[in-house]
Amino acid sequence: MSIAAFRADLGDIPVEDHPRIVQQRSRDHYWYSPVLKAKLDHVTAEIVVSPRSNDEVKTTLAAAYKHGVAITPRGAGTGNYGQAMPLSGGAMLNLMSMDKVLDIKKDRVRAQAGAVLEQMDHQTKAAVGGELRFHPSTYRMASIGGFIAGGSGGVGSVRWGGLRNLGSILGMKVITCEAEPRELDLEGEDILKVAHAYGTNGIIVEAEMPLAPAHDWVDMIVGFDSFIAAARFAEAVALQDGLLVKEVSSYAAPIPEAYFNRHKPYIKAGQSVVLIMVAPVSAAAMTLFTSHHKGEMLYRSDRASEEELKRLPPVYELAWNHTTLRALKVDPTITYLQTRYPTIDHVQKIVDLLGDELPMHIEMTRQDGIVTFAGLPLVRYTTEERLEEIIRIHEDNDCNVFNPHRYTLEEGGMKRTDQKQLDFKREADPRGILNPGKMVAWENPDFDFGAGKAWLFDGLNPVHAA
Ligand SMILES: Cc1cc2nc3c(=O)[nH]c(=O)nc-3n(C[C@H](O)[C@H](O)[C@H](O)COP(=O)(O)OP(=O)(O)OC[C@H]3O[C@@H](n4cnc5c(N)ncnc54)[C@H](O)[C@@H]3O)c2cc1C
Repeated sequence: MSIAAFRADLGDIPVEDHPRIVQQRSRDHYWYSPVLKAKLDHVTAEIVVSPRSNDEVKTTLAAAYKHGVAITPRGAGTGNYGQAMPLSGGAMLNLMSMDKVLDIKKDRVRAQAGAVLEQMDHQTKAAVGGELRFHPSTYRMASIGGFIAGGSGGVGSVRWGGLRNLGSILGMKVITCEAEPRELDLEGEDILKVAHAYGTNGIIVEAEMPLAPAHDWVDMIVGFDSFIAAARFAEAVALQDGLLVKEVSSYAAPIPEAYFNRHKPYIKAGQSVVLIMVAPVSAAAMTLFTSHHKGEMLYRSDRASEEELKRLPPVYELAWNHTTLRALKVDPTITYLQTRYPTIDHVQKIVDLLGDELPMHIEMTRQDGIVTFAGLPLVRYTTEERLEEIIRIHEDNDCNVFNPHRYTLEEGGMKRTDQKQLDFKREADPRGILNPGKMVAWENPDFDFGAGKAWLFDGLNPVHAA
């Protein structure tokens, strides 16, 4: 691997090699996990390349292929499993200079990979009154390419499901990493070859996404005396066909009073809460529904003063993984899990078993037409062994865990090879240049996911030159 020879082939494509800046750009939010923090703290690339066009991406990938330089793509770097960390060093490929919205139609938008989600919505709202169906809570920073390659769903998933569902991504343009990189247009089922593949098998340069009608969403916070009452109410809201909502999530005490700093004045000690984003047309009905369920309306953004609105973040920035971020700011020993609870009884069981060691946070999401409990519980971390035990307690009680303390696709996901993604890597990245170490099936096809051991990328080796 020769970075100097690689760099010489890049011409006037912008690069950065100041070690401190390169190290900053080599990191994502891996530090949410004490396990990943210990494993990945030292990881850094040697250079950051910032292409401005598809042709410059192709030039960069051809040079990387020729000189055996590992390439790790990066959007805003807000992923939190170390997905965007360059385990083999080499180059970070920063896509954020390719940030244009290319085309807006009544029901869809096409943008370059580095377009920021909030900026996309500004433009589509102004042009056609539409907005992305769902977005991560990192909406104000995250790129569309990074969301597709590294994310799963978020605010809006209670209505629209996740990125994995057919129809959630309409099309992508992807560039391969070969001697002569190709531009491929992926549609339909082919999208799943590259979506949520951490950039291991192609660089996304454009994406086309469906739009939903935009609304001036009203934020609400509803208080309950017990967490189970809050979780039952959240489920009931998500099931109401006539209530147009974009976000419904429940939080066990003491999360709201301990970690939602700016909203603290609205929350009583010991209260569990439900956060809601509701369309103005459904706000009155939601208030009625809340009183039927004996919830206490603690805050409504449509009744807030100008001064309050300036001071308070939107409720989606308390939700999803922003909950973990807010807890970490107050208590650095906190970490989290990603879980799925089949029913409210499973939620109750886990709350009873783990109590305040696992302050519960549940996002209501829709999956194949069914409203499900997607857990993002906080964990009061003590040791890695205890964390594993908490995971086992979930699994023993038929609750899935998507382990956020692993940096590989498989271990953080379904713990099995995604054959389509592996086959596409063979075609689009034959030398294994793209984001090395993140796809176990490529590095070690015989790895046994059932053996209960974490997979470790072999020494974070450099990629060898051609
Ligand atoms: C506070 C907080 C809250 C979050 N909430 C959510 C949430 O609600 N839902 C959710 O799904 N995620 C969430 N995340 C994770 C993350 O913010 C999102 O997935 C986000 O969309 C990632 O976008 P990014 O531009 O920051 O991508 P990055 O972090 O830069 O990259 C993510 C992955 O995609 C790869 N990649 C980036 N760009 C490309 C490209 N153009 N082509 C190929 N591969 C590429 C990277 O190598 C990496 O593997 C959260 C994270 C934090 C820290």
